[in-house]
Amino acid sequence: MTAFVFNEVNFDNHEQVVFASEPKSGLRAIIAVHNTNLGPAMGGCRMWNYASEAEAVRDVLRLSRGMTYKNAVAGLPIGGGKSVMIGNPKTDKTPAMFEALGEALERLGGRYVTAEDIGTSPQDMANVAHKTRYVAGLGDRGDPSPFTALGCFVGAQAAIKHHFKRDSFDGLTVALQGLGHVGYDYARRLHQAGAKLIVSDIDAQSVKRAQEEFGAQVVDVNAIYDVDADLYAPCALGATLNPDTLSRLKAKVVAGGANNQLATPEMGEICRQKGILYAPDFVINAGGIIKVCYEYMSTPEDGMDAHVRRIGETLAEVFARADAEGVPTSVIADRIAEERFKK
Ligand code: NAD
Repeated sequence: MTAFVFNEVNFDNHEQVVFASEPKSGLRAIIAVHNTNLGPAMGGCRMWNYASEAEAVRDVLRLSRGMTYKNAVAGLPIGGGKSVMIGNPKTDKTPAMFEALGEALERLGGRYVTAEDIGTSPQDMANVAHKTRYVAGLGDRGDPSPFTALGCFVGAQAAIKHHFKRDSFDGLTVALQGLGHVGYDYARRLHQAGAKLIVSDIDAQSVKRAQEEFGAQVVDVNAIYDVDADLYAPCALGATLNPDTLSRLKAKVVAGGANNQLATPEMGEICRQKGILYAPDFVINAGGIIKVCYEYMSTPEDGMDAHVRRIGETLAEVFARADAEGVPTSVIADRIAEERFKK
């Protein structure tokens, strides 16, 4: 027998993995529930033209496990899960497919709550909601990305305090990559706090706006790794901390909103050896899921801002423990998550 799913590194004792199909709509989805010790599993639904079913399985397991860690460190009463739909989001999507996904979630009885992700939209989630209440972030109560940006900002404050022993961004230079929903708002906060900005984006309009509004210096997309900066803020792509970029970065602090910043787990140790303080991605970018969780659980929102700001305190703890134990910050972040969800 060929071992595949149970031996996958990210299977990691998933509680449940469901293959959901519905022939009329053409739905082919995989729903992964990694861990529900802290509450119902929550994580987005990704639609992607996977090259194979095995690739879709690997992706959903990796993402679902990641949500357990992210939600636990964020101090949310939810577990980790994720779903993927196999298909091209530009050409294959239909409302019926999302309704069929809603029926599949209903059969899970609330063990997994979905939301939008890459390839899916608030409108798709509205179609899911025709069939189930186990769906969050319908888009009717606002975009979560300003909260992600706030988390990045307070995370960066904690990082400069730890590394440079400074409370202020005055005189510090930030190399910020990607001026989208998160990056633009994060850049605005950094500019208001006195940081000098060097920015890159593949979109000419976005960089022009940052130049005009924040006096940002603009560089080519590939040059962002070489500029003289104190802090690198990845807010576009994953895997931008890799052997090539880590040999080029001059910044001594990495604090940005992008997901999956480490190309491989070993990059955490390379950052440590190079004296680069890395704010683990799933800790610093949790502002959006905090907002979505508050909405879904109808938690009074007066405590939400303070909850997002606690990301700064969590990171201060991560940095201090990493120093004391001589291990990468990414390892400490994982440990803090495990201390919370592995009860
Ligand atoms: P977005 O699509 O609004 O913005 C991404 C920006 O990056 C765009 O402006 C795009 O033009 C730019 N970009 C793409 N390739 C680039 C390149 N090679 N160099 C420079 N810029 C490039 O996305 P977003 O919602 O701002 O999310 C940004 C990152 O943060 C993603 O990795 C996302 O997964 C992560 N994230 C977002 C949230 C959220 O609340 N939106 C929450 C957690 C994590």
